Amino acid sequence: MNLPTHLSPQAALARLDVVYTNELSGAAEGLALIALVDERKDYLPAGYSCMKSYCVEHMGMTEDVASKRIQAARTARRFPRIFDLVAKGRLTVSSVVVLAAHLTEANSNDLLDLAAGRTRSEIQFLLETRLRGAAVEPNFLVSESATRPEDAPGHPAFAGVSSDSVTSAHSEDAPGPVAPVAKTRRGRLAPSVEGACEVRLTLTAEEREVLQQVQALASHTEWGSDPALVYAKAMKLFAEYLLAQKLGKGTGDPATSVGKGRRIPMAIKLAVWKRDGGKCSFVGPDGHRCGETHHVDFDHIVPVAMGGSNKLENVRLLCHAHNQHEAERIMGRDYVSAQRENAKRDRELAKRARELAKAAKLAEKARAAEIAAAKKARMLELVPGLRGVGFTMEEIAAAATHCESIADACVDDRMLLALQFLGLNVGRRESYRPADPAPEETPTAGTP
Ligand SMILES: [Zn+2]
Repeated sequence: MNLPTHLSPQAALARLDVVYTNELSGAAEGLALIALVDERKDYLPAGYSCMKSYCVEHMGMTEDVASKRIQAARTARRFPRIFDLVAKGRLTVSSVVVLAAHLTEANSNDLLDLAAGRTRSEIQFLLETRLRGAAVEPNFLVSESATRPEDAPGHPAFAGVSSDSVTSAHSEDAPGPVAPVAKTRRGRLAPSVEGACEVRLTLTAEEREVLQQVQALASHTEWGSDPALVYAKAMKLFAEYLLAQKLGKGTGDPATSVGKGRRIPMAIKLAVWKRDGGKCSFVGPDGHRCGETHHVDFDHIVPVAMGGSNKLENVRLLCHAHNQHEAERIMGRDYVSAQRENAKRDRELAKRARELAKAAKLAEKARAAEIAAAKKARMLELVPGLRGVGFTMEEIAAAATHCESIADACVDDRMLLALQFLGLNVGRRESYRPADPAPEETPTAGTP
């Protein structure tokens, strides 16, 4: 596009006003459309597994921009006043992302009033101030990215968003943080040239030891000294291991394997996995294949309930989103949502049963501990007296166990029974010689 030099100064200013207003209303409409398409999952029949895939693969947004706009659209769906503020240039997509985690039904009007017309960094500062109280250094949050021109309120949200204006923490599922996010991840992939990527890992002492052990074992090879080659080999083996876990050995002939009910034979699973390349096979009307690789599972094209078989041609790989989409298309939304509710209820019931069983087990354990403690306390009541007349701890323990038959009785009665027991069972032993006190003072009642 060339500069419109044919416009007079007045005409250029008037045109700029029009274009700018259109950009703002376009930004708000774009957010509203993302909110709608996202809510209704309109991207599924088109062959995309999620809103972000559609934004990135079909619309050509960068991942960061897509994540940011989707988060802003979801926030605006909850608080529709945001659409108007974006249309008037009072809020940008970046500002909405910063506000997202802090907006509630109760505070949304106040917070939006406070944020309208401010830059993203000002909003961050205000939010931080509210969270911490007033004792905040005025410039502690000002960063390079927060002072970019696109953060200025009034800038058309869509036109102004650039991929590098989004911090890495602003993912689709992670609302824009105000306080720095503690990084718990120890690994990072950094894109590099020609499809290669740089892997940075922080290993614990134990993990480093394992790496060193592998390098020592492979010290006779060419690759053993290079951590990148060790990593690559380990990943290849691990992928094979995980695939074997998912698919089994896959022995047998796919042409003759039939399976039972909904159970797909391993040979078929392996053949389907290879045929579909481990990716969702759903294809939209314009020929776009979903190709999602996460949460992919086997699906019967014609459901078993409708006479579908386990044969290779009736089994395919679908991602979770397209699995649900196809189930709703074939079986009806009401049926699928009833099934989902049933499954959810079953899971909750099973969880409750597990919790109850666990609580019962704990209560039983606590009760057993209580009984043991009371038993021990009763024995300890007998110890001083019986030790005093020369009985060993083993003998006292045996007598105390005998006395449990009258556990509710007072200590004197139990002592009497203990002495009677010891007199009967121990007192006749040659080794037993009550030292002191005199025989008539020793309560050995009951001795035959
Ligand atoms: Zn899919």
